[in-house]
Amino acid sequence: MDKLHSHQNLQNRISYLEKELLKAKSSALPLTFNLEPRLFFEICEHSKNAIAIFETVDHGNNFFIRYLNFKAEEIESVNRKKIIGTNLTDSFPSVKTSGFLNALKKVYQSGHPEDFPATMFSSGKIIEWKQNYIYKLSDILLVSIYIDETEHRTKEFELFEHREKLEIAMEAANYYSYEIDFQTMKISTDLELYIHLGYSDSESKEFLKKAGSLIHPEDYKKAVNLISQHSRKIKPSLKTEFRIKNKRGQWVWFSANGKIIEWDKNSNPRRFVGLVKNVQEEKEMLFKLQESEEKFKSLATLLPEVIYETDVHGNITFVNLKAYDIFEYTPDDLKKGLNVMQILAPEEFERATINLEKVLEKENSTGEEYQAITKTGKRFPILVYSNPIKKNNNVVGLRGIIVNITDHKKTQEQLKNSEETFRQLSENIADGFWLRTLDEKVIYANPACYNIVGARLKEIFEDFDLYLNWVHPDDRKQITEQRQKNLEKQDKIHFYEHRIINQDGEIRWLWIRTFPVYDTNGKLYRRAGIASDITTQKKLWSELLAAKEKAEESDKLKSAFLANMSHEIRTPMNGILGFAELLKDENITEQDKMDFIKIIDSNSKQLLSLINDIIDVAKIEAGQLTLNKKETEINPLLCEIYQLFKKEQKRLKKENITFNLKIPDSENPVIFTDIFRLKQIFHNLLSNAFKFTKTGTINMGYQIISENGRSYYRFYVADTGIGIPENMVHFIYERFGQVQPQKFTNKHGTGLGLAISKGLIELLEGKIWVDSVEQDLSQKISGHSTFYFTIPINKMFSSKKQKPEVKLKQKMKDFSTVSILVVEDDKDNLEFLRRLLRKFGATVFIAQTGEEAIQLVKTNTQINLVLMDIRLPDINGFETTQRIKEINPKLPVIAQTAYAMYNDREICLENGCDDYMAKPLNRDILFKKINQYLYN
Ligand code: ADP
Repeated sequence: MDKLHSHQNLQNRISYLEKELLKAKSSALPLTFNLEPRLFFEICEHSKNAIAIFETVDHGNNFFIRYLNFKAEEIESVNRKKIIGTNLTDSFPSVKTSGFLNALKKVYQSGHPEDFPATMFSSGKIIEWKQNYIYKLSDILLVSIYIDETEHRTKEFELFEHREKLEIAMEAANYYSYEIDFQTMKISTDLELYIHLGYSDSESKEFLKKAGSLIHPEDYKKAVNLISQHSRKIKPSLKTEFRIKNKRGQWVWFSANGKIIEWDKNSNPRRFVGLVKNVQEEKEMLFKLQESEEKFKSLATLLPEVIYETDVHGNITFVNLKAYDIFEYTPDDLKKGLNVMQILAPEEFERATINLEKVLEKENSTGEEYQAITKTGKRFPILVYSNPIKKNNNVVGLRGIIVNITDHKKTQEQLKNSEETFRQLSENIADGFWLRTLDEKVIYANPACYNIVGARLKEIFEDFDLYLNWVHPDDRKQITEQRQKNLEKQDKIHFYEHRIINQDGEIRWLWIRTFPVYDTNGKLYRRAGIASDITTQKKLWSELLAAKEKAEESDKLKSAFLANMSHEIRTPMNGILGFAELLKDENITEQDKMDFIKIIDSNSKQLLSLINDIIDVAKIEAGQLTLNKKETEINPLLCEIYQLFKKEQKRLKKENITFNLKIPDSENPVIFTDIFRLKQIFHNLLSNAFKFTKTGTINMGYQIISENGRSYYRFYVADTGIGIPENMVHFIYERFGQVQPQKFTNKHGTGLGLAISKGLIELLEGKIWVDSVEQDLSQKISGHSTFYFTIPINKMFSSKKQKPEVKLKQKMKDFSTVSILVVEDDKDNLEFLRRLLRKFGATVFIAQTGEEAIQLVKTNTQINLVLMDIRLPDINGFETTQRIKEINPKLPVIAQTAYAMYNDREICLENGCDDYMAKPLNRDILFKKINQYLYN
């Protein structure tokens, strides 16, 4: 401060100097250097002002430098020793242009001191600034006391410039300065402030006097309080906000700061300066911000989802109420510090950390699923969305939403399950299922649908022409009509069936059901369909129909059969009963007696044959018929059959028919088959041939043929009879199948013969068929039939030894030493056997129950043989046999059964019997068997 002497200081010093000089004058000191020179120079040398003394010798035209003090030497940057005594204008030529010379002259001439601020310009800028005070010391001497103010003035100028700039800047930034004088307690401000608030110039000037009166009373109080705190040095500076009323009576917000800049000696504040700034806009912004934050917060409270904010470390800084609700933490927990990781299950940490870093690197998260954990350890799934919070382009934290997806998950799971169920169902059902839009675009079709329709399903389903092409030609018309119906009634269920030709060219039947699908608003928006391949059902259905027809037919046949059977049975029964009745007559002749017995015998045989047929059919159908194959020469066998039928031809009085046996010219071939059954087949065929032929020829024979690498005997019976209509050819092999039997004169027959023959031939691994032309006398077409059947030639004849048939002795022995036990509960049969055996001399024991039989065996050791009936009233024949064998294991037991339905022989042998005979017993066979067991 000392260095920069203010103008005032300079004045003070000069006046001091003047006073000193005047003192010197008054004390009669010499005016020039009469003054104590040492003192004078002492003063001058220590003066901080530059002092120069000039002398004029030519009345003020030229001035010579007489003295320069130390300071002047310093300011002028000269060596005073060199320039003292020189002409002023020579040493300092600039005095002419600066006006200093003129100023000296003026003071010299007027005698009045002159204040002369001297400036030097260079490039339009003041480069030198000196403040001179020129004083006339005597007639020839002038004193110039001066100071170089260049630096000070430059600074002052710069300060002025700065202040101007500052004022402009302050105005631009709405800053206004103010000052408080603590002594007067007056506040003064920039006039601009009031103008800025809309007041007129004159009003503003008024306010200048009473600044502070416009401040809001509350804020005023607050500001006074703050200033007081500041003045007591409680606060280092003042910073506050207050409202000032504008011209329109509105309160405008200002911010103010300031500082006490002057204190008195007692450290009391004297001056306070500061700036105020209009912050109304910022305030409004802040209010809006606060308002929107308020809004946000109240909305956040209402939100059903969790809203959160964290810092960069994941420490939660804000959450809405929902968060406390679902995570079970309290606001206190949050205050104490809660990291986002604490609401995640431990296994999620690693993934969450990676994701957190990604978001912090400014990536927005699209939603990550985590397992959350509550304060009490409850777990549930959440979906977390987060965005980075940025400030000045730096990420300072995270903000996001957490959604509890437990319900969503459950629904998703349920949906998944139901979808899975649907998928399983739809992919595994054999029925085709599809869903399509109302404009016939296929949305879904299950695999079965593709199986039925093929890979082009979509194409076919979406283009009716293609569909029609796929439909069987015979069903196309019906399907075209059906489609029309479907289109007209899209909201109805439609059923229909049609055939298609599939990729393999196969005709398949489809059953189709299409139905409407509605959306949640009950609006029709899709159609779905189910197609089932019902080809098998259709086939079954037609088979069922055929079976039904057949059953009805067979029902009819049965009725016919029963009528026939009744006839067949009654006829021989009539004969038997009628002639048996006649036999009772004592007067009949011996010849008649014999004739009657023959008739009874013949009728009985006929009846037995019928029963045998029925039993055979039953056995074949039950799969119970067993074969007894053996090796036999064919030719003699056929001769035997032929001979038998020669006799039959005679009996039938059909000698007019030419009957031939044709045997191929070859070695006598051998056949391995069931001879009995082979004879039975021939018997049936030949019987029919004779039955249905009136005249012409009947041939029988065989050929050896080869088919598919196998050799067969092909037997045949050919006749020139009535023939068989073509459509009945298959029917005749059915049980009871007869072609209009009433048409024929020969009404004998049950319709079982061919059924039995076919069954037997198939058991013998052969086939039967017929070539026939039906006789039509009106068309003069003669009929004929040739029945063929095959038996394979089995070259590898079974090596298995057949159980040898009991060899029957040809010669009959006398039974006089024989005791036979007859076990039989039927009195007639018993009587018959008793008489028969006795007739041949045997002793006959009789038992009607099993127990009786056992007792008799126990008590009569002479019994040699037992004839055992199987069906007995108490214990059956098998058990009786076993108990008899326990008593006497060697006693032969021959079973006699009337069942004939089962494999009797096997069953009897298995149950301990030695042999078996079917009822009615053949006398010869019985005697042969008894002979065999007693004398062999
Ligand atoms: P049945 O001869 O007892 O009636 P079959 O089963 O032996 O029974 O024959 C069935 C039917 O086949 C006969 O009723 C007859 O209509 C027809 N049939 C069988 N053989 C001949 C044949 N040689 N000529 C004409 N029709 C025959």
